[in-house]
Amino acid sequence: DVPAVLAAGSGGHADPGATVAYGPAEGWPNDPYDRPEHRYGALRALLTGAVAPEQVIADLQEAGLRGMGGAGFPTGRKWDLVRKAPGGVKYAICNADESEPGTFKDRQLLAEQPHLVLEGMLMGMVVTGAEEGWVFIRHEYGPEEAVLRAEIERLGALGLTGDDVLGTGRRLVVDVFTSPGGYILGEETALIECMEGHRGEPRNKPPFPGVHGLWGRPTLMNSVETFADVPVIATRGAQWWLDQGIGESGGLKFFSVSGHVERPGVYCVPMGTTIRALVDLAGGVAGGAELDCVQPGGASSNFLDASHLDTPLDFGTLAEAGSMLGSGALVVIAKGTDTLAAATNVLRFFRNESCGKCVPCRVGSTKAHDLLAETLRSGGELSAERRERLLELETVMRKTSICGLGQVAMGPVVSVLNGSGAAGRPE
Ligand code: SF4
Repeated sequence: DVPAVLAAGSGGHADPGATVAYGPAEGWPNDPYDRPEHRYGALRALLTGAVAPEQVIADLQEAGLRGMGGAGFPTGRKWDLVRKAPGGVKYAICNADESEPGTFKDRQLLAEQPHLVLEGMLMGMVVTGAEEGWVFIRHEYGPEEAVLRAEIERLGALGLTGDDVLGTGRRLVVDVFTSPGGYILGEETALIECMEGHRGEPRNKPPFPGVHGLWGRPTLMNSVETFADVPVIATRGAQWWLDQGIGESGGLKFFSVSGHVERPGVYCVPMGTTIRALVDLAGGVAGGAELDCVQPGGASSNFLDASHLDTPLDFGTLAEAGSMLGSGALVVIAKGTDTLAAATNVLRFFRNESCGKCVPCRVGSTKAHDLLAETLRSGGELSAERRERLLELETVMRKTSICGLGQVAMGPVVSVLNGSGAAGRPE
């Protein structure tokens, strides 16, 4: 009874025919801005000098936009760092290698709003001084890649890409790089290694891609959703963006909602919407069952039990609650689910996707999974000794793994052991 999105172990999707459902927020993107004749207005303003690059950065900083790919790094600051990185060739990359179980919002954005994604990336290229950019896309996203390529063609026809964009003498070239496959390639430095033709393993950081990225050059990398937000903020203003959020939270957020809900899908809602409100928007718990717990930020986020239903979905509040917003993937789990089995499935995914570069992650995830699988097989309770061993493995992996995969792989398991995933085992 583990939700299919977790049981599958990899790549959960909403119905491919589904479209984004826009929540209570009004005005974006079903608004005048989104009419075809109004598209690329923010990019044109930047290219023609009507808006200065510094103004775009200031707007992003005032809007408080943070990376929507999981890490949540302030976008304006990142753009400023790459802009100020010592001269020479720079690059831009849109990370569209969305592969975590429960995460499929970028796919829908690429399918429905490819122009926003490309406009944001091209604006980033102009602001930072990059001439060449790529959308690094998950290889299973064939239909979305086709949409993206068609939009890139259109950009060329509009004179917004090429060797002399809008007669400004500026060169802007955008292409698609199809991922050869593997969850770890979504990690920014592994992605860069892959694009350089190397084995896709994360690098030690620092240096960060903003100063030492693709081919050793400063590289601006943002996720699909982050780039899509940029032209909206630039067009409507930072204050408008802030006003879309609820309470202390600013802006809008796309969520992939899956698991035991009536209407799994992609929802665009105000940042700060509560877990309860988002579950209700998705039709409530499937079959009218009682909610047991959720993972608010995808497979790598800690389970939160039903006492957190009124927690606002934003970066700060979820971190305080002991979980994270991650990439915005709410996985709902109904009462009666074996949450230890669900968390073990998550760990199995990370064990399988570990690139094997560092020992704590490669060996630790295997050992921890073996312990849990044996416990589940025997149907018995977790012994105190095994529990202690699992907690030790979590500490070692969190503190010594090179990248985020190893650092968070055991988090969901431990959150269940600590009781956040309700009882852990059904009666
Ligand atoms: Fe590879 Fe895991 Fe180490 Fe990351 S933490 S570099 S995925 S072995």
